Amino acid sequence: MPAARLYPIFTQLAGRAVLVVGGGSVAERKVAGLLDADAQVSIVAPDFTPQLSAWAENGRISLIFGKFNEDQLERQWLVIAATADPGVNAQVAAAAERRRLWANVVDDAALSSFQVPAVIDRAPLVVAVSTAGAAPVLARLVREAIERLLDPSLGALAALAERWRERIRGRFVDLGQRRRFLERLFRGRVAELVRRGQIAVAEASLAGELDGAPAAPAVGSVVLVGAGPGDAGLLTLKGLRALNEADVILHDSLVGPDVLALARRDAERIDVGKRAGAHSRSQDEIHALLLTQARAGKRVVRLKGGDPFVFGRGGEEIEFLHAHGIAYEVVPGVTAALACAAYAGIPLTHRSSAQSVRFVTAHCKASLDTLDWAALAAERQTLAVYMGVAGLERVRDRLVAHGRAATTPIALIENGSRTNQRVVIGDLANLPQVAREHAVVAPALLIVGEVAALGAQLHWFGSAPLTQAPPLARAA
Ligand code: SAH
Repeated sequence: MPAARLYPIFTQLAGRAVLVVGGGSVAERKVAGLLDADAQVSIVAPDFTPQLSAWAENGRISLIFGKFNEDQLERQWLVIAATADPGVNAQVAAAAERRRLWANVVDDAALSSFQVPAVIDRAPLVVAVSTAGAAPVLARLVREAIERLLDPSLGALAALAERWRERIRGRFVDLGQRRRFLERLFRGRVAELVRRGQIAVAEASLAGELDGAPAAPAVGSVVLVGAGPGDAGLLTLKGLRALNEADVILHDSLVGPDVLALARRDAERIDVGKRAGAHSRSQDEIHALLLTQARAGKRVVRLKGGDPFVFGRGGEEIEFLHAHGIAYEVVPGVTAALACAAYAGIPLTHRSSAQSVRFVTAHCKASLDTLDWAALAAERQTLAVYMGVAGLERVRDRLVAHGRAATTPIALIENGSRTNQRVVIGDLANLPQVAREHAVVAPALLIVGEVAALGAQLHWFGSAPLTQAPPLARAA
């Protein structure tokens, strides 16, 4: 017969005595949670972890050296048994039962009269997850899923609501009205300001709304989100939350289908992708689209490959939004240089050979002409060149002309972090040749510097790096 359903409760333990039996790392985790709740913790064991001893020295907990005995349950509100000895755990559970004291035996649902749930902590907002001990691993997976959904700023939002509770109650005596006001509060501008860390502005806005100032007209907002280079796992949690809340998503062609698949099902998706040569939409058209969507009250996500502020024209977009009074947020993404280097096993800096790294763009001839080649050719640095694959010869020629050794290792990473990633390793001298030999196509990133050679041994993702033809064959 399945065990009876548990009745969930949250307990007020501040200043109340709680006994923990056991002095190891499991006990330590339990004590940490109890201290967060300001419980008065005593702990009994023959010996204790260094952290438990340190807490005792600071006067935060009391240690009882020795064995558990039933008298120690006197005056306790709760007891937790966290020893590795099933006999002791059973003894604690039985003694607690006789005294009608709530007892938890770690990892033993049958012996426990209460259980400690997995929690998602956005205090004062706390979400607790339990499977009544049936499947703790499942509870942990559910906890992870919820953890991803809830923005960390919800704690601050709940605290704000608590501070304003009386005033809100005074203003809206009618329960229905109050509920509608609070729902707007938790979804609207105040919540957005809290998410941006602007608590004082949020409170001022809330004060205005309570004073009967007409609620600001529903204007939308724009979140610039960096989608990362391709692997959907590289999207940030914050980016994922924005995609979950979006009404409309304007994305580049560099953004892969795996990332788009994570967005809210009914969000409208608009591909504003531009490919060199075949502009499908001008930057002005994108600006205009952002503006009309936001003014229509939509929550707009502007989803960009990599990071929005690295060669992504994100700067121009927020300048435009700023000038037009549209609220915006920016969520960074993993830029191609970081992702390509990581997924090719090429550290961008290295104590022995690269003390700095530069992100450079060389998308067309004009951008090549304005670069400071003397500085780029300096030794002991890594270059990460974002570019079309057409200009490799010119990059090689200028670096060598300005003094970078022709033997400097290079790596070209095509479709970095995607399942079809290819890495080509060579040196500056033969860069255009190896690219041609292996027909490297966009999107590809060029890494120049001693570190590039490390990819030959340290690669771990996708197929093994391709190299130039052997030196002898080349010399011939
Ligand atoms: N904002 C983007 C860069 C846009 S510029 C970012 O932060 O990554 C476009 C250039 O980025 C491409 O020409 C290519 O050089 C590089 N790039 C983007 N994604 C890439 C990928 N998955 N693999 C290799 N290079 C990539």
